[in-house]
Amino acid sequence: DRVKPQRALISLSDKAGLEDAARTLNDLGVELVSTGGTRAAIAKLGLPVKDVADLTGFPEMMDGRVKTLHPVVHGGLLGVRDAADHAQSMIDHGIGAIDIVWIDLYPFESTVAAGGSFEAAVENIDIGGPAMIRSGSKNHGYVAVAVDGESIGLILEALKAEGSTDLALRKRLAARAFARTAAYDAAVSGWFASQVEDAAPARKSIAGSLAQTLRYGENPHQTGAFYRTGEARPGVAHATQIQGKELGYNNIADADAAYELVAEFEAPAVVIVKHANPCGVAVGKDLSEAYARALECDAVSAFGGVIAVNRPLNGDDARAITGIFTEVVIAPGADDEAKAVFAAKKNLRLLITDGLPDPHGPGEVFRSVAGGFLVQSRDRSLIKPEDLKIVTRRQPTPTEIQDMLFAFTVAKHVKSNAIVYAKDGQTAGIGAGQMNRRDSARIAAIRAKEAGEAKGLAHSLAQGSACASEAFFPFADGLLEAVAAGATAVIQPGGSMRDAEVIAAADEQGIAMAFTGVRVFRH
Ligand code: 5GP
Repeated sequence: DRVKPQRALISLSDKAGLEDAARTLNDLGVELVSTGGTRAAIAKLGLPVKDVADLTGFPEMMDGRVKTLHPVVHGGLLGVRDAADHAQSMIDHGIGAIDIVWIDLYPFESTVAAGGSFEAAVENIDIGGPAMIRSGSKNHGYVAVAVDGESIGLILEALKAEGSTDLALRKRLAARAFARTAAYDAAVSGWFASQVEDAAPARKSIAGSLAQTLRYGENPHQTGAFYRTGEARPGVAHATQIQGKELGYNNIADADAAYELVAEFEAPAVVIVKHANPCGVAVGKDLSEAYARALECDAVSAFGGVIAVNRPLNGDDARAITGIFTEVVIAPGADDEAKAVFAAKKNLRLLITDGLPDPHGPGEVFRSVAGGFLVQSRDRSLIKPEDLKIVTRRQPTPTEIQDMLFAFTVAKHVKSNAIVYAKDGQTAGIGAGQMNRRDSARIAAIRAKEAGEAKGLAHSLAQGSACASEAFFPFADGLLEAVAAGATAVIQPGGSMRDAEVIAAADEQGIAMAFTGVRVFRH
């Protein structure tokens, strides 16, 4: 099952890595065939290279739309060398076998990500490239297909060691290649669906391309991998890891949760996440102050946490953050001093992104179920002061309104049932993931009480806070827990059968309560 390649077809949009690979193939006696731009680049290296046009007898035409779409190319890729009739056809029509095909597709994804025009995006839909990848991959019995630097690297490694490729490698390469064309087409289809007016009924095919295999999944006995979809939203999927241990499955999930939340704030903000839930969130005059305030909410849980910030980090910020053991830091930037401080913590994973996710931008989120997955649009909700319906006799003060909105924004990112106490742009207590709302209110109260004690306060950190509930209070009991914890204002969607009972309890307690009319469950 070994194939000693005679001829390689190389057609690359991004010519990175071309020189080394072309030289190696040439040294190994492999004949090189290329399309216009790639051919010129190889010729410039002083290496012999044939033009595809010489094979096909047709020039590249129609702005490059038709270059390699020809029986001489596809016959050379698809012909089953061991089938007598295929071999005869190849002889009859002068079709030479192509044993290696290396393609880097037109940059459709990055054209769209860079905000290219409709016409630019359409022109960057590669037709001939995916066709060659698919032809070669189908015929992996004879053809080795490379769709990226790693694949061509594997081919060259095998050739240098053995002078040939084996079937196991060609199969692996084909699997990777089909994943690439599937993800490419998913990106095209997703973008196209977003361009038609009634996008709702347009069906998108959803696929991802492998970004990295992970050491394991959520637990060491599970396998794990990280895929990127065609979506170009800034965030974890497109972050660069500057330093630290290898990223794990839980690190990525937590970093995503933290970064999506921190992007909600305008002021310098810090989010500390543990097990997908925030355990401290705060804004401050700068990141160092925001970090100190976020930590104050629940310093116990913050140990080994994942930290997200919405500004580039400086040295002071890095020193503050490295004060306790931290697994991951994700930021839109870090200066040299910050990087030097982090470098002293070898294990700490530092992720730098190309920007902050737009909390109100479009996009989809997924979740698996046995045999399928659920897709929903992102929760882009944004509650503004004018959206609030005050339902109590007491009106909230302007400060309380600010605290309410801050708390509700955090609650949107806390697993249901979520209760969040917040004051002055700082969470005072967070209760997450309980099966009843009263327990979440109680847990948040315990956190706030302990945070108050740790700070040497005579009262809970939630004293005078606003309490947010991500869904309505079905009974007055949860609200009473919040009042007992020190909340003087409550924000919740409203809409319960017993709203009247809950409002009456709020009035009796003399607190202010606002309805958002919007529920922000997170499961
Ligand atoms: P080059 O820079 O070599 O002129 O072009 C390389 C690019 O052309 C690669 O991205 C490759 O996928 C693409 N390509 C190769 N053949 C065809 C074709 O027949 N039609 C189209 N649209 N693109 C092709």
